[in-house]
Amino acid sequence: MEAERFGCIIVGGGIAGLSAAMVLARHEVPFLLIERGAYSGAKNVSGGVLWGTDLARLVPEYWNDPNASFERFINHRRLTFLDEQSAFSIDFKSSHYDTPPYMGVTVLRAIFDRWLADKVQEAIDRSACADASFLAFDVLVERLLVEDGRVVGVEAGGERFYADCVILAEGVNNLLTRQIGLQAEYVPADHMAVGVKEVLRFDRRVLEDRFQLSERSGMANEFIGAITDGVEGGGFLYTNRTTVSIGLVLGMADLRRKRKKPYELLDRFKAHPVVADMIRGGEVVEYSAHVVSTGDMRAMPRELYADGVLVAGEAANLLLNAGKAIQGMDFAMHSGILAAETVLEARRVGDFSAATLRRYRERLEQSYVLQNMRNFQAAVRLLHEPVMYERMPRLVCDLGREFFRVENRPAPKLRQILREVVRRHSSLPELLKLTYRAWKAL
Ligand SMILES: Cc1cc2nc3c(=O)[nH]c(=O)nc-3n(C[C@H](O)[C@H](O)[C@H](O)COP(=O)(O)OP(=O)(O)OC[C@H]3O[C@@H](n4cnc5c(N)ncnc54)[C@H](O)[C@@H]3O)c2cc1C
Repeated sequence: MEAERFGCIIVGGGIAGLSAAMVLARHEVPFLLIERGAYSGAKNVSGGVLWGTDLARLVPEYWNDPNASFERFINHRRLTFLDEQSAFSIDFKSSHYDTPPYMGVTVLRAIFDRWLADKVQEAIDRSACADASFLAFDVLVERLLVEDGRVVGVEAGGERFYADCVILAEGVNNLLTRQIGLQAEYVPADHMAVGVKEVLRFDRRVLEDRFQLSERSGMANEFIGAITDGVEGGGFLYTNRTTVSIGLVLGMADLRRKRKKPYELLDRFKAHPVVADMIRGGEVVEYSAHVVSTGDMRAMPRELYADGVLVAGEAANLLLNAGKAIQGMDFAMHSGILAAETVLEARRVGDFSAATLRRYRERLEQSYVLQNMRNFQAAVRLLHEPVMYERMPRLVCDLGREFFRVENRPAPKLRQILREVVRRHSSLPELLKLTYRAWKAL
């Protein structure tokens, strides 16, 4: 029997893969997307806020879709420093963010990815390739087919499928990217993290009253400090329609070094007096854990293309976590779009060699994805230093505690409080040095 041949094969039906698929479907390119999960989203974990407006490019006016599977749009941001008893937050809320296309929307991946896959299927059905493009689920791509040093297809479920080009959108466990030597076999655990997350269900009224939400507005809260028991990392809490997603992202090497268990640290985070007040009465309806990149560019594949192949999304370790937000899904979406656009260009010139596919790298370099990763590498590395998740949050909380304390005695001036607090947790030279580094990094 003759093996099937496609214009493109996409490995992985997560956000990167589906985004690439949407572009190919719109441009009448026959393609095969292969996803190992029973449906898109079955195997995926995110916090998760999908930042940016690329979703509106893929599904115009998605917010008007009655089935639109986003949970809430974000108009409320909060960054919280914690010690064992206190929380000091920088809080920003604005109706400026209330109008579409939204700055960011919360999503639950098992619902969102499935909806996006349906949208891709609709685009396929409308295209001239309705009988030539397929989304295949429950199928694992076992290996890439390589002939004369170029990727020519994939082997999946014991069958061979050939294509002009393969887009690897296989996520952070990028075994196929490693098979062809683009990624080193061994990625240091220092550059990888473990994300653990629970979804807690609330009565909708309770949730909206507690977090001051109206209709579809939502809040994204990042945390740094005593919650991780000295392990590198931080926490998050995002509001969904009737649930909150709460979790931690923890340095893998540090977890191992300090012999801590992610789920025990998550319990500790939830038990923090300030956090416990936020989630009181929530019923756990989902628990998940997943490896996640740290955003350190040293973990990226040595190249993102080769003859006949492109690497997109977290398979390429495209992610940024510089303290302000985790940006993995938007990077996956954008790189998926750029990978597909590069395939369109390669089809126009009839050349799928590295000489043409290098345009993908150029597109990424010109995009916010690689520009942000490069610009904020110093912030990513600074965040990994123990002082940032141990002493600094304590200093900030101590400052808050002293500043907001009102007693029946003469009150110290702010500068006196500051001097005393700095002396307790750090020193002026150290603080000045850190402030200078943070100033440069951000
Ligand atoms: C706890 C946690 C919180 C996070 N929070 C956020 C957040 O708030 N915002 C944000 O933007 N990002 C967040 N991220 C990161 C984000 O989830 C990822 O960056 C994003 O999912 C990457 O998308 P992707 O499509 O590249 O990969 P994935 O979503 O991992 O998709 C890869 C797909 O490929 C499939 N696959 C893999 N190998 C094969 C194979 N051989 N054959 C067939 N199919 C295969 C998998 O089943 C999967 O469906 C978070 C991650 C974690 C773990």
